[in-house]
Amino acid sequence: MSDNEKKKNKVFLRTFGCQMNVRDSEVVAGLLKREGYSLVEAEDKADIVIFNTCSVRQHAEDKVWSEIGRIAKSAKKNVHIKGRSTDRLGRSKAGTGPIIGLIGCMAQNYKEHVFQRSPAVDFVVGPSDIDKIPSILERLAGARQKTKSPDLYELKIWETDADKRPEEIYHTGFYEDKEHAYVVISEGCSNFCSYCVVPFVRGPLHNRDNKEILKEIEQAVSKGISKITLLGQNVNAYVHENVNFVELVSKVNKVKGLKEFSFITSHPKDTTVELFKAMAECDKIKKALHLPVQSGSDKVLKEMNRGYTKKFYLDLVDNYRKIVKNGELTTDIIVGFPGEREKEFQETYELVKQVQFDAAYIFKYSPRPNTHAQMLLDDLSKEEKEKRHKAVLDLQKSVSLKKRKANKQL
Ligand code: SAM
Ligand code: SF4
Repeated sequence: MSDNEKKKNKVFLRTFGCQMNVRDSEVVAGLLKREGYSLVEAEDKADIVIFNTCSVRQHAEDKVWSEIGRIAKSAKKNVHIKGRSTDRLGRSKAGTGPIIGLIGCMAQNYKEHVFQRSPAVDFVVGPSDIDKIPSILERLAGARQKTKSPDLYELKIWETDADKRPEEIYHTGFYEDKEHAYVVISEGCSNFCSYCVVPFVRGPLHNRDNKEILKEIEQAVSKGISKITLLGQNVNAYVHENVNFVELVSKVNKVKGLKEFSFITSHPKDTTVELFKAMAECDKIKKALHLPVQSGSDKVLKEMNRGYTKKFYLDLVDNYRKIVKNGELTTDIIVGFPGEREKEFQETYELVKQVQFDAAYIFKYSPRPNTHAQMLLDDLSKEEKEKRHKAVLDLQKSVSLKKRKANKQL
């Protein structure tokens, strides 16, 4: 880099969505810091603004489009103040305004079409291509340096074709938190729940090498990290060279210096009594299970392609509570899935009442591109979805409050 380019190295990374995205942003931050970039806390101090995005629900995507629009607009307003220059569509002219990147699930969902929807964006990078971000930034900075004419717009770059990430990206040693680290054990998902965009934007399940996972944990611990969370869309499906999830958990439990660890997310169809026994036996495992049920109706569960019934789920919960004494239990629920009539909704409501979760994340169904459910008739009114959402939310709030009070009295 030239001296001039080196000055333009302040990055603002904005993360939307789940813990997987939080970890991905950290990975990107680690790669960029290694190349001499620094992270800033506010976009108006940044030379480069990167949005790490989520496509799980429409609402999450809408927020990103509007945030990019706001930044492009504010760059336009800054023409007189800071000499930045954008055209009427919000595109920054050569060498002016921050470089804007859109990465993660939306990048994979929209690929190069992002540039039509949001001309202010300079680069688009899918979840499996994040290792390429430092070289993309070099190319963009170089292009800005060379382009002397203010009428020429920036180069647009998109990378969305890789099948899997190089292992080395997990070993930069950078963690936002000094005590806790997220550790990815598997990428992607091959379950194809009928409502879910994840298999389309993050690709099929890929398990990391168990030796590399343990190496990463040991390195993190040597830097002072004492707690970790193992991450995957369906951690229970983990298997690498005959090491399955239960065996991985036992190996992690033996890492010297590690004080506590947990894991998300468990898919009920792959969750076993052996895991509960390991949770009871391993002294370092946090006694907490996030077990998304999604619905209490067998008809809806089948349409969702979840691969279990209400009875299977309730038996699993019984076993968990018998084996993991005082274990915390949380869940995810979707209301208003196509074909969920009042009867099916009531089954979900009753299941929430019966199970008494410690906490639940309740979502209104949102049709997603490419998914099977997108082809189903989504004719429930917005008002009815709101009503069902509020009903389960209010129920869960009262359950959570009751449980918190009971715990305090113990
Ligand atoms: N892999 C995890 C699992 O199987 O539960 C979580 C994946 S997803 C990122 C997190 C939650 O978002 C899901 O458990 C589900 O409740 C919700 N979700 C996914 N797709 C949705 C959609 N199309 N509409 C509403 N909620 C959705
Ligand atoms: Fe989506 Fe189902 Fe995979 Fe979870 S298990 S990421 S809900 S397809």
